[in-house]
Amino acid sequence: MSDIFSNTILCGKCNTKMDRVQVMRNGFVLRAVTCSKCGSKIIHPRDEQEYNEFVNLKKKEFCVKMRFVGNSYAVSIPREIVNFIKVQEKIMDDMVRLCLEDFGRVRLEFGNVNSKPAHIEKINLNAKEKAEVK
Ligand SMILES: [Zn+2]
Repeated sequence: MSDIFSNTILCGKCNTKMDRVQVMRNGFVLRAVTCSKCGSKIIHPRDEQEYNEFVNLKKKEFCVKMRFVGNSYAVSIPREIVNFIKVQEKIMDDMVRLCLEDFGRVRLEFGNVNSKPAHIEKINLNAKEKAEVK
């Protein structure tokens, strides 16, 4: 099935050929078309749907149990979240990055495991600055 956005789309208000653009919303890049004449905008329906799923998922809070596994603790990540990430990332490694972000808060990052999280680089930078002061 071909994508509707690969076709020429005419503005419903003024019948002008609409231009393909990208719209940023909360870090999401959504495909859209705009009319240069009247300013009408249409977001790609699939991108819009995916974005709405993300917004709904963000509102949810899950209660998960902590379990003792070997010498570590394990928590289960709800399938809903993993499925959403899989759809977003297309490819997901089995490795995820985990770090203590703050007291009482652990951060789990999917995607690029090799790059350092921004806040760790910041801490290292602060440590370097302090070392240089001495
Ligand atoms: Zn128009």
